[in-house]
Amino acid sequence: MMEQYLALKSEAGESLLFYRMGDFFELFFDDAKVAANILDIALTSRGEHDGEPVAMCGVPVHSAEGYLARLIKAGQRVAIAEQVETPDEAKARAKREGKPASKALVGRDIVRFVTAGTLTEEALLNPRAANLLVALADVRGTIGLAACDISTGTMTLEECSPAMLGAELARLGATEVVVPEGWEHGPEEASFHARSAFSSDGGSDALQKVHGVSTLDGFGDFSRAMLAAAGGLIGYLDHVGRGTLPLLLPPVLRDNSAGMVMDEATRGSLEILESQNGARTGSLVAALDRCSTGAGSRLLAQDLSAPLLDHAAIEDRLSLVQFWRERPIERANLRDVLRALPDIGRALGRLVAGRGSPRDLGQIRDGLGEAWRLYYWLSREDDRPALLEALVPQLAGHGALTDLLSRALVPSPPTERSNGGFIAEGYDASLDELREVSGNARRAIAAMEARYREETGIASLKIKHNGVLGYFIEVPSRHGDALMAPDSGFTHRQTMKGAVRFNSLSLHEEASRISEAGGRALAAEEAHFEDLVGAVVEAREAIAATAAALARIDVSAANAERASEGDWCRPEISEEYALDIEAGRHPVVEAALAKVGDRFVANDCNLGCDDRLWLIGGPNMGGKSTFLRQNALIVLMAQAGCFVPAASARIGLVDRLFSRVGASDNLARGRSTFMVEMVETAAILSQATQRSFVILDEVGRGTSTYDGLALAWAVVEGVHSRIECRCLFATHYHELSRLAESCESLSLHHVRAREWKGDLVLLHELAEGPADRSYGLAVAKLAGVPKDVVARAKAVLEKLERSREETGGLAAGLGELPLFAAAVPEPQATVEDALAAKLRDTDLDALSPRDALDLLYDLKRSLD
Ligand code: ADP
Repeated sequence: MMEQYLALKSEAGESLLFYRMGDFFELFFDDAKVAANILDIALTSRGEHDGEPVAMCGVPVHSAEGYLARLIKAGQRVAIAEQVETPDEAKARAKREGKPASKALVGRDIVRFVTAGTLTEEALLNPRAANLLVALADVRGTIGLAACDISTGTMTLEECSPAMLGAELARLGATEVVVPEGWEHGPEEASFHARSAFSSDGGSDALQKVHGVSTLDGFGDFSRAMLAAAGGLIGYLDHVGRGTLPLLLPPVLRDNSAGMVMDEATRGSLEILESQNGARTGSLVAALDRCSTGAGSRLLAQDLSAPLLDHAAIEDRLSLVQFWRERPIERANLRDVLRALPDIGRALGRLVAGRGSPRDLGQIRDGLGEAWRLYYWLSREDDRPALLEALVPQLAGHGALTDLLSRALVPSPPTERSNGGFIAEGYDASLDELREVSGNARRAIAAMEARYREETGIASLKIKHNGVLGYFIEVPSRHGDALMAPDSGFTHRQTMKGAVRFNSLSLHEEASRISEAGGRALAAEEAHFEDLVGAVVEAREAIAATAAALARIDVSAANAERASEGDWCRPEISEEYALDIEAGRHPVVEAALAKVGDRFVANDCNLGCDDRLWLIGGPNMGGKSTFLRQNALIVLMAQAGCFVPAASARIGLVDRLFSRVGASDNLARGRSTFMVEMVETAAILSQATQRSFVILDEVGRGTSTYDGLALAWAVVEGVHSRIECRCLFATHYHELSRLAESCESLSLHHVRAREWKGDLVLLHELAEGPADRSYGLAVAKLAGVPKDVVARAKAVLEKLERSREETGGLAAGLGELPLFAAAVPEPQATVEDALAAKLRDTDLDALSPRDALDLLYDLKRSLD
């Protein structure tokens, strides 16, 4: 056995090997130690190998899913080795091979690798989040990305430059990334797969084979990098599924220029899909999501992760939201229908991957049936916007399949198919007959029990059934002797404590009738199951299109619902250089305040060509970063096709969004806060364009006052005069307000605060002009710093302020500095440069000692 185990283990490689033994999956050696630790189960040992006891632990097969989920969550991959023959088959094989049957070992094989990105099990997936597997390939410096969600079959191909890889991966939010073996540019925890799979020719062939086409032209014009990534993706899926490929829909080409670009730091700081502590609670999507279905929530998350740049496509989404916004009653009806809808996309994924159950077939039947009813209703609605017009036809067209499934299946089919019972009566006459036979036999057995009681006079006689004996007659021990008589017609089978068990000829006959008919009925149901799955798989693309249409309709109605809850408005999108938001709010902060009964103060933001950079001052806790973030979120939501929390919003399309707000805690990766801030700021200065929108908070806070002020000063100048993009810049450096003198499109603003009876009142209201003072000590007092410390700080502050007045302050003279763009001087040639040039040009080997000495004198002279 050890030999077989070790062979399988070497095939499993890095994955933990689940080795099936009867009703358990067993793990051995280091695998056992790792799993026992993660799962918190007992680690035992068994036998010896190379003189060492073999560590071992196991999990029951029937509850393996839960254990798998925990291992995958902990970052492990698992290989499942199943028994692929019965003990009888193993014995027969041994005989054929001339080996003793007693030594026959049941054959085992790895039937599947379970990895985070290749799950389809309902229990292991989050219904409201996509589960993406992404493969990367590098073809002559261009990175191809192939992404798929095998739980629903969607697949996209795209490419980017190596510099943008981080941003693209952040947008995709993959659960698992696969890269060619030995490739070093992927994320740290990437899975490796054989390099040979990542070739463009191989990828093209694999795609053609999967979709049964001779050319990919009908799907799109894919680059070599994209095809190579697709090759790697399909190769990996094939490896993981041991030759069974999951559901893969035709690849969709994603044009990266069609979307707004956001890098990882921006996504993190805007807390789009999760808040900074990693939870969904407190994120933008959680504050927005009113979807009725899991598929809708997944699509909304995708929309928010990839806002659009295509004006028409954004208007299409907005018009559909408006359609539902204006029809509250229809919206409520629609949402009721959607709520009852099963997740047909994921049911389809399981069926195609060969892991489907009768219940999945039932879900497809119910889902498609509901989709048809929606079709019937929506195609009669007036004034349908273009997007709905395009979606409605995709809801219909499954008549024959729904009909077939409705006739074939019982109303609520089970998840377990091995016990049968899911094919409806009337679907197959011969199956009905078999059921009739076993039903009759069961009735006969019930009648037999009554008859035997009468004949024997034993009222407590029972006919029972168990897995070992099958049907048997049981009487209490004291009546046992009566039936033991040779002519009683009963044969003894088993004596238990307190009971004796018998068989009889007629019971045996009826029992065989049941088991034979039962076995044939099961086989018939199994065959029907395969046929029905075949019919569903045949229609997979149309079913997936229906699932996608339902999800889009759900998202639009959910956005309308959210908009009506919060009185949000439809943003006006334009190609102009504008950002006019009237009475904007932060959706997450507003909701949090509402919970404790506080009101959010709405604020305007008006950026345009001649006023494109707002410098915002004011006390800590005054609401600066909230204001920055809310405007970035409003832009993001608008371009994702959502209504926005404002009285009105006019948004000139933003090509790239940058957000540096709040200390991003990258310290775990060995970078100081200041270093992180500088790296992120560098990215903005090198990547932002005139059409970008940048929000920056407290640049330079992580270093000394002079360094910090100098950096903040230079960054503002760079953004204002070189990039010329729209920007909100929050700072506590009063000195920066002097930039208003030299930067003509910059204006000064502050969050208002007031001191009232010695206490600080934060108004969270934005006003024009510079902040009059910083209120730092008042904030400290508010935060509970002891009175004597605040008093001492006040004295120190007065002294500092006096000396500032005398010297003109930190920024004295900065106003006269030339602007950033002109500030980089041309390097001047120096004496040292001349010396170096002379030395470089001299061939030392060609010099006599005398010449060398002369040269030395010469050099020294030129220094003087
Ligand atoms: P700053 O960046 O100026 O230090 P924050 O933006 O972090 O301040 O805001 C601090 C707190 O003030 C927030 O957590 C929120 O509770 C409250 N706040 C911010 N903006 C508003 C607003 N517009 N209306 C009401 N409360 C607000």
